[in-house]
Amino acid sequence: MAIVIAITFAIMWRLGGMRRHVLGYAISYAAFGTGFLITHLLPASSPFLFHATQFFYSIGAIVLLASVCERVGQRLHIKSQIAVYLVSATVLALVVSVSDEADPRLLIVNIGYGVMFVMGVATLLNARRRDWIDLAMITVLTIQAVDFLVRPTLTLMFERSIDVAAYRDSIYYSLIGLVLAVKSISTAMVLIGATLAEWVTSLRERGDRDDLTGLRNRGAFEHSIRQLLPRAQVEMVPVSLVVADIDHFKQVNDIWGHQAGDAAITAFAKLLETRVRGCDISGRIGGEEFCVAIWNCDNAAAEQLAERIRAAFGKLVHEQLGADIRLTASFGVATARKGETYSRLFARADAALFRAKNNGRNRVENSDTEPDPDFAAGPAAPATTAAPIRTAIG
Ligand code: GH3
Ligand code: MG
Ligand code: MG
Repeated sequence: MAIVIAITFAIMWRLGGMRRHVLGYAISYAAFGTGFLITHLLPASSPFLFHATQFFYSIGAIVLLASVCERVGQRLHIKSQIAVYLVSATVLALVVSVSDEADPRLLIVNIGYGVMFVMGVATLLNARRRDWIDLAMITVLTIQAVDFLVRPTLTLMFERSIDVAAYRDSIYYSLIGLVLAVKSISTAMVLIGATLAEWVTSLRERGDRDDLTGLRNRGAFEHSIRQLLPRAQVEMVPVSLVVADIDHFKQVNDIWGHQAGDAAITAFAKLLETRVRGCDISGRIGGEEFCVAIWNCDNAAAEQLAERIRAAFGKLVHEQLGADIRLTASFGVATARKGETYSRLFARADAALFRAKNNGRNRVENSDTEPDPDFAAGPAAPATTAAPIRTAIG
């Protein structure tokens, strides 16, 4: 069962493009499975039985604990875990050399695993995240820790002195087979549930992203800003919108090809990402058109930000276009008014962008400092005929 579970995690990791902690679950279950097989197949009288199983179970425990900690952004103290293993393996070696009884060996190895799980749970508890899956994970791992620390002592109280040769006929051995199966499966269920939840979240996020730039696509951008605006109104926080459009972009495609155009779009998106904060919302809303909703940003600050992005983009070197070619972009800025809808706010910013195009491109126009007569009077006249890009960029 452990091997099947390991394969399940490996498939989820590979096909789902999951993060490496899912591969960690696969490795830990493969190690547990190897340990179970050794416990069952190696002759009970073999002096290596306990050492070999302890080795594989410890690898399984350490990798499992490191993976569940990594999942919530915590780092397991692996050196301490290895130290616990080494101490317990040394004590085990001493006991094996002086006694033929299985019970002290069982106590030593189980206490070792128990300490490892207690340390793992303590690390998990440091994480700030605590949704129901995290709680389920903490619960199953705590049960594991308690089981390792309490079960051997309790069982051995009833069945004193198990001779190693009779280990597989003992009550202890029957019980452990059952307990390990239940524990492994219940832990795997929680891990599989957590992994499926992460998979669904990552699929949803991927669906919201634009493939070329990784920014939000138009639908996701509009969804996010439609939620942001009412919140800003309630919290009385200013929100500004910047709309940007790369100038003469058709000519980039025509002269240097579509791939060069794609690279320029990606470069603009990267620049945008370095200039906005985590609380802002940026998206690619069209071919070479971008939008940023800036949280807690008044009109003047938004215009300055747009101006900084404009200046930085104008300086970018585009490898595929040649060292002496620079691209430019035009910007429209508008700050949300009381009760203003997204559609209205966007229309104002877009009208300002249109004005920037009409006024010669490579500039920022602000809807709030200079109300747009075209916008008030309806659709504006078409932009002036585009100048050839080489002229436009000087
Ligand atoms: P303006 O200065 O007035 O904005 O001129 P423009 O040439 O940029 O005008 P327009 O916005 O009409 O042109 C956009 C072009 O962008 C047209 C389209 O072929 C191209 N485009 C749209 N999406 C992509 C894309 O994903 N990759 C590339 N390479 N080009 C794209
Ligand atoms: Mg354009
Ligand atoms: Mg355009």
